[in-house]
Amino acid sequence: MNREQMLAKVRNRTEPWDIAVIGGGATGMGVAVDAAARGLSVVLVEAHDFGKGTSSRSTKLVHGGVRYLEQGNIPLVMSALKERGIMRQNAPHLVHDLAFVVPNYTWWEAPFYGIGLKLYDLLAGRYGFGASKLLSKEETLERLPALEPDELRGGVIYYDGQFDDARLLIHLAMTAADHGAALLNYCPATALLRDEDGYVNGVTARDHESGEDFNLQARIVINATGVFTDSIRRMADPAAEQLVVTSQGIHLVFERSFLKGDTALMVPKTSDGRVLFVIPWHGHAVAGTTDTPVDEPSLEPRAYEEEIEFILETATRFFVRPPTRADILAVYVGLRPLVKGDGKTSALSRDHVIHVDTSGLLTITGGKWTTYRHMAEDCVNHAITLGKLPDVDCPTKSLRIHGYIENSTVLGSLEVYGADAEKIRALAEATPSLAARLHPDLPYIAAEVVWAAREEMARSVEDVLARRTRALFLNANAAIAMAEPVAMLLAAEQGRDQAWVDSQVEEFTTLAQQYRVV
Ligand SMILES: Cc1cc2nc3c(=O)[nH]c(=O)nc-3n(C[C@H](O)[C@H](O)[C@H](O)COP(=O)(O)OP(=O)(O)OC[C@H]3O[C@@H](n4cnc5c(N)ncnc54)[C@H](O)[C@@H]3O)c2cc1C
Repeated sequence: MNREQMLAKVRNRTEPWDIAVIGGGATGMGVAVDAAARGLSVVLVEAHDFGKGTSSRSTKLVHGGVRYLEQGNIPLVMSALKERGIMRQNAPHLVHDLAFVVPNYTWWEAPFYGIGLKLYDLLAGRYGFGASKLLSKEETLERLPALEPDELRGGVIYYDGQFDDARLLIHLAMTAADHGAALLNYCPATALLRDEDGYVNGVTARDHESGEDFNLQARIVINATGVFTDSIRRMADPAAEQLVVTSQGIHLVFERSFLKGDTALMVPKTSDGRVLFVIPWHGHAVAGTTDTPVDEPSLEPRAYEEEIEFILETATRFFVRPPTRADILAVYVGLRPLVKGDGKTSALSRDHVIHVDTSGLLTITGGKWTTYRHMAEDCVNHAITLGKLPDVDCPTKSLRIHGYIENSTVLGSLEVYGADAEKIRALAEATPSLAARLHPDLPYIAAEVVWAAREEMARSVEDVLARRTRALFLNANAAIAMAEPVAMLLAAEQGRDQAWVDSQVEEFTTLAQQYRVV
């Protein structure tokens, strides 16, 4: 993926696009992959970087949702479990099985969760990841050696999926690009175009880097902007009723030693009735999440003190050596787009919603990362009907995601790149300075920055440290220390001067303060 080539593609296009997508998160990128793989022409514009919104800030689980099971929403769980299996099949370099243990401290928990998780296994059918079973106290502690043993009676082990959300998003972008899609980051939609009858027939977008405006004519415009959904709908109809409400969830990241082992801890009911996970991820332990309503969506939401305290307090109940504030390496915050039913909305499933405004603007929102493919399939099916586009079957159930490779664990720290890992390794071999680690506490090497700039449309230090690598999400101080070398590498790739390097370092350092807890 090369931004200049993408810009040229957009400038040279004389025909209307079949589909224009607004929003480069999991939802919009899934739609771009689906549409491009069906042979439709598609352009996608993202206001910031791909994945800047919620899609890089999840709990990193590919799951059916044990919580929905508790609510009795069987069809939703079944559909998500199927998608979980499809995701692992199509992106085995990014989606892995993970063992979870629910520890039992009272007599009723073992039968209660044991039966519930057997049902979870059953609903996965042939997409199952492994059978759940009851564990003795000793087996539970073997799996989770850091667990508080006092009054522990045993546990239940079950299996779900785990992934790297921002990395999958970049590989979805590359998959869409491999199928001919034009994708632009740093290119916000600023207005909608209309035909003489008032129907939406395109998007005006501004290249944030050059200030150039593009009028992208399209047969169908799809709004996939997550928590920003209503701002785009109001471009079409200033009186459009609110469709989406926002709730935030935070995660705290600690050293892996707080969890120990390769098994995740699942707390099915916290003191406020939520599910909380502590999962091993990229050599660290990630604990989350919370559910706090927020009034205004923002691209960089901040954690509330009460949320941080809540996670620390919950951890105190479960760990022999509970983490403290001083142990927090990073805090990251995501916003859920929750659909507010208004009677006019056509719900395709209980999970996500597809809404058609009277202007013809097609909106898709809700759902979760795990169901992105299914959501995209539904959405493009609607777009085909509305836009009178060629009715091609959806091929994504068996479409391999960019980087697809089996046995990716042999790739070591470059595993998430899948098939691209050998090209990154070749860069490091050709220029030995690129083999150097950027920080002793994280595995990232300089060649990854060069690769991100050349092939993955990374434009800024933040793009590299937050989403092409996950440094900012794993260790905010380490990421700050990496900012200058990363800026220098990017400057060399993009022909930028020292002033650019200085401003990038300053901008990133300011942003990264929000990921630190002091
Ligand atoms: C705390 C938390 C934990 C979660 N954990 C999980 C999990 O473990 N597993 C799971 O399956 N799901 C999880 N989810 C759900 C999942 O992350 C979301 O459903 C998904 O990321 C939503 O993607 P999206 O593309 O709709 O939104 P986003 O990722 O927010 O994408 C919308 C994009 O639109 C862009 N945009 C906005 N305005 C414009 C404009 N004018 N022009 C162009 N672009 C614009 C934004 O910049 C943004 O990048 C979690 C969610 C949260 C909040």
